Amino acid sequence: MEKVTTVCPYCGAGCKMKLVVDNGRIIRAEAAEGATNQSELCLKGYYGWDFLNDTKLLTPRLREPMIRRHKGGPFETVSWHEAIKYVAKRLTEIKQQYGARAIMTTGSSRGTGNESNFVMQKFTRAVLGSNNVDCCARVCHGPSVAGLRETLGNGAMSVSIEDLEQAKCLLIFGYNSADSHPIVARRIVKAKQNGAKIIVCDPRRIEAARIADQHLQLNNGCNVTLVNAFIYTLLEENLYDKDYVAKYTEGFDSLWDVVKDYAPEKVEPITGVSAQEVRQAMRTYAASPASVICWGMGVTQFGQGTETVKSLSTLALLTGNLGRSGAGVAPVRGQNNVQGGCDMGVLPDLFPGYQKVTDAAIRAKFAKAWGIDPESMDKEVGVRITDVPHLALEGKVKAYYIMGEDPLQTEADLSLVRKGIDALDFLVVQDIFMTKTAEVADVILPATSWGEHGGVFTCADRGFQRFEKAIEPKYNVKRDWDIISLIATEMGYPMHYDTNQQIWDELRELCPLYYGVTYEKMGEFGHVQWPCPTLDHPGTPLLYTDNKFATPSGKGQLFATQWRKPAELTDEAFPLVLCTVREVGHYSCRSMTGNCAALKTLADEPGLVNINPADAQALGIKDQQLVWVASRRGKVISRASVSDRINRGAVYMTYQWWIGACNELTQDNLDPTSKTPETKYCAVNVSAIEDQ
Ligand code: SF4
Repeated sequence: MEKVTTVCPYCGAGCKMKLVVDNGRIIRAEAAEGATNQSELCLKGYYGWDFLNDTKLLTPRLREPMIRRHKGGPFETVSWHEAIKYVAKRLTEIKQQYGARAIMTTGSSRGTGNESNFVMQKFTRAVLGSNNVDCCARVCHGPSVAGLRETLGNGAMSVSIEDLEQAKCLLIFGYNSADSHPIVARRIVKAKQNGAKIIVCDPRRIEAARIADQHLQLNNGCNVTLVNAFIYTLLEENLYDKDYVAKYTEGFDSLWDVVKDYAPEKVEPITGVSAQEVRQAMRTYAASPASVICWGMGVTQFGQGTETVKSLSTLALLTGNLGRSGAGVAPVRGQNNVQGGCDMGVLPDLFPGYQKVTDAAIRAKFAKAWGIDPESMDKEVGVRITDVPHLALEGKVKAYYIMGEDPLQTEADLSLVRKGIDALDFLVVQDIFMTKTAEVADVILPATSWGEHGGVFTCADRGFQRFEKAIEPKYNVKRDWDIISLIATEMGYPMHYDTNQQIWDELRELCPLYYGVTYEKMGEFGHVQWPCPTLDHPGTPLLYTDNKFATPSGKGQLFATQWRKPAELTDEAFPLVLCTVREVGHYSCRSMTGNCAALKTLADEPGLVNINPADAQALGIKDQQLVWVASRRGKVISRASVSDRINRGAVYMTYQWWIGACNELTQDNLDPTSKTPETKYCAVNVSAIEDQ
């Protein structure tokens, strides 16, 4: 038996683990001593490798390249040579006929690794000739990236996951760590055991609320109002750090003008949180010697997501809670490599290393490295994935090359996404399983999976970590970056890499932020956090230790704004708020975890609709009863889970259930800056099936 060190492919906690391999098969997973997990794993880490054995519990593994030559026709198995030629020919034709910006690509925030993301954005920019590359950060923490880049300069956690234990106060806002990052939840428990005060802001009584000193059970859809009341309290009660604000921040003078109407007493009817609770929360947060604000998609997946992020970072700036151990901001990224996708520039506005596509000098640097004419590069910001359905329906996007994403399961308002996908001329899906999106593709390119290849992931705290190949792939599949390189070469741009490290070293040379992160430095158990600009640099566990921010002026930007109501409000026909959430045993579109026997046994129906007992009783719904859930866009079957942890007036569903996906119900009101959809709020009704 052999033990291979790798990194868990599920969440951004980035837990190190060992896969135990016997006779070419993985037989179990063991926890390893990683920087973020210290020999602990959650159930997905222990039992989430089974899909590699092609269990077919949910869907079969993609084994051969396939082409569908006519819309609605059958898939035909073809050779790799034919598949590559066909894709290259169709993309070339579409580029010639409609222009480079008619083609969209995606990176993947999942098991493929940073190298394939780097190659995908290079292919898009150097071969296709546009910036039309994006990833699922768009639908989750896009507002964290956009908001923090504006206020602090770096769109990532300023502290390490490990450092959360050092906090003396944790303000947890819209973040259910127990379900989304169980190992981070352990850090929160340890912080509590170390004496930290825990303040939870969440409409539901989530796990963290059970150990919290305060649970601010705010109404759904009023985050900005509550944060404004926080800022009001800090200013009115003189709780802010005047010296820090004067020396290291800008924008203080305009704050009061915005928040003066948000006295905690005045906004109680909107937030549902008593003024006393709001004031006490800020007294605790400001008085603590080191406070961290953690947030998740309960902050970002709103039409005001970016503004809420900017306002939360303002709390940290006002109190000087940055740049010290246990003090900072922590948007905890969801998928295992969503931070890496952003780091690698699978974003329409940024090259790898967060370098702007609109900067001529940066374009010239990349053009020189890639041997292309800088004038041939797209000078504009490209298309976002949430724009694709609209642009496809307008005839502006004609082809979509999707790597390791499943928009027909994971994006808001699936009827809109379906219409957009139907309107495309050409859809290529490169994946490991027959996902909902793969089912309607014109070409399927089967890729190797996590476990069958190695590379580098970035976990949520900016830490680069190597993961290793454990087993040989069984089927006729190829590495993601190899497939992309073959298509590029066929399109007339010779591209070839032999190893992950070749790609990594090309990336390092182009990105000052990562130049010092060598393969050797990462080693087997290394966790090297950017910025790491030189070869002898150890990496940066804490950002802003010198109180200098990566903003144009070097100062932190204070921000507050007026609250806007969510786009779709409840009414008589649709009286309940639907909020999408996560389920601890499953991951993303469930194509991986749904094919793991233990995880499937644990939660075979992650499509439950969670509802408060009073609402259930009023609707005549019993626990575990089948129900219809309907919105203005669709109707799905689900099963009621009646729980007093759920607040009245709202219901909660995961998007992981394949039959009756709750994204049939959600709407795509987009945050204007990040273009992230408001999947935390739409109006629905729920009715018992027996009544139909
Ligand atoms: Fe994997 Fe996240 Fe669980 Fe760690 S906490 S084992 S990274 S799913």
